[in-house]
Amino acid sequence: MLKVHSIETFGTHEGPGIRLVVFLQGCNFNCAYCHNPDTISLKGGKDMKFSEILDLLEAQKSYFTNGDFENGGGLTISGGEPGMQLSELQKLLKQVKRRGFHIALDTNASFNTTAYKKLLDLSDLALIDLKHFNDAHHLGLTGRSNVNVLNSIEYRNNSKKPFWIRYVLVPGWTDQVEYLEKMGKYLKKFKYLKRLEILPYHTLGAHKYKELNLNYRLQNVKPPTTAQIKKIKNIFDKYLKNVIVRQ
Ligand code: SF4
Repeated sequence: MLKVHSIETFGTHEGPGIRLVVFLQGCNFNCAYCHNPDTISLKGGKDMKFSEILDLLEAQKSYFTNGDFENGGGLTISGGEPGMQLSELQKLLKQVKRRGFHIALDTNASFNTTAYKKLLDLSDLALIDLKHFNDAHHLGLTGRSNVNVLNSIEYRNNSKKPFWIRYVLVPGWTDQVEYLEKMGKYLKKFKYLKRLEILPYHTLGAHKYKELNLNYRLQNVKPPTTAQIKKIKNIFDKYLKNVIVRQ
């Protein structure tokens, strides 16, 4: 049984191809730009049986692979943070694997335990959200250090399994050239990094903070302009092969 925030059928944003995306409840970060702040607490969400998720997967199976396991669709586990429901999730993913579906794990990668590494191992593709390359900025943005995140990236690469990095671009928060240069240089060495996705910040989730009576720290921040996005992409392009802007 998993605590699920929501399900997206035929999703096209969280991994390759057309996917079933399961957004789990609960997160150990508190990102200033989180557009789903209602996923953070483990108290919300609804309990879902594995069989319900497997049935949804089987129902959209014909849209998945097109004979190409790596680039076709499959299941994406997102959140919240999937690492918050580690042991149940491992059980589900073992069943999904047995049925031959491609598994993507969208994670903040902030855990340094054997159990979390096993979870990473169960994914065919890890979508690792690196929130900031500088630890102090990471702490200010998320409430947590990035040390475990960077360790997880190294672990994934050493496992010789593909991963993407996803980076939310927030003007004034995550666009400091100095750290983007450092991040590009750092990521360049990872052979199994197959893509870097820039996710331009948007304000779509802002109203939820009001509804939840939470303080929205990015009140006065505007989404990046096309020129700002291009500038950041150019920096990453110097170091990495496959930099995509995900609008
Ligand atoms: S890691 Fe994701 S779900 Fe968690 S607070 Fe940050 S943006 Fe929200």
